[in-house]
Amino acid sequence: MAIVYFENRFVEEEEAKISIKTNSFHYGTAVFEGIRAYYNREEDTMYGLFFKEHYQRLFQNMRILNMEIEETVDELVDITAELVKKNNHKEDVYIRPIVYFADLAIGPKLIGYKAKIAIYTLPLGDYIDTNKGIKAKVSSWTRLNDNMIPPRLKVTGAYVNSAMAKTEALLNGADEAIVLNQKGYVAEGSAENIFIVRNGKLITPPVSEDILEGITRNAVMDIAKDIGIPVIERSISRTELYVADEVFFCGTGAQISPVVEIDQKKIGNGEVGPITKKIKDIYFDAVRGKIEKYRHWVIPIK
Ligand code: PMP
Repeated sequence: MAIVYFENRFVEEEEAKISIKTNSFHYGTAVFEGIRAYYNREEDTMYGLFFKEHYQRLFQNMRILNMEIEETVDELVDITAELVKKNNHKEDVYIRPIVYFADLAIGPKLIGYKAKIAIYTLPLGDYIDTNKGIKAKVSSWTRLNDNMIPPRLKVTGAYVNSAMAKTEALLNGADEAIVLNQKGYVAEGSAENIFIVRNGKLITPPVSEDILEGITRNAVMDIAKDIGIPVIERSISRTELYVADEVFFCGTGAQISPVVEIDQKKIGNGEVGPITKKIKDIYFDAVRGKIEKYRHWVIPIK
């Protein structure tokens, strides 16, 4: 039986139930995170990846929605490590903290309600393929913008947009969607940020382009700089995807996921490109605590 964190304590999953009247369930106003912890087999140790950064982003999002909870960022980092320990995981896991307005009340608003946090873990290998390269489709759905439902906000309501795009991609034989923003520039995947490679340089949309400010995106930029690959944050047009040498998605769930085909056009030679591969290999070692330079990304859970 899994242990989860619910209403300020660790309980059996069976006990962690919310009412059908829960306010955020109706109005899409819960903010959440997707975090990973990785199992290092040689050391028999779980490593928590970017725990603090995820909770800092959660608190930024809570601020936008006027949410306050009793736990602090540092306490949540400890609680999350404890939760991984209590569940005796010896495999890669995904961790889902979610903050919601727990009031049993009608009305879409962001004042006068009490927020609470729940956290659970689940074993998760690849969310999308990270080896052979995936097929993506530019979506007919447009990315939300900052004056609607801010994409910066990892809020449940925003994932209607992601779900529409992802479903359309799947129904059309692709693995993942690429969504354009209202200006028509490339924003991101349904649940990942995107990078393209052109002439040995990495290019990714800036945070003003209606994207989630991804934590993996930052990690990729750090790796690229460390191996001498220039990173440029600028707008990317749709057809630039088609002529890119390499394309990949990144995210906590997606990790580093090479894209080898977009809208039925091969990217580069249709195989995983060398820069993508290099960054991916470094990332997968770093998240398991195997690279000294990136040890600050992870905490060993003992
Ligand atoms: N964009 C969206 C829409 C996402 O849901 C995610 C996953 N959290 C990302 C990008 C990647 O963000 P991160 O690297 O922080 O997981």
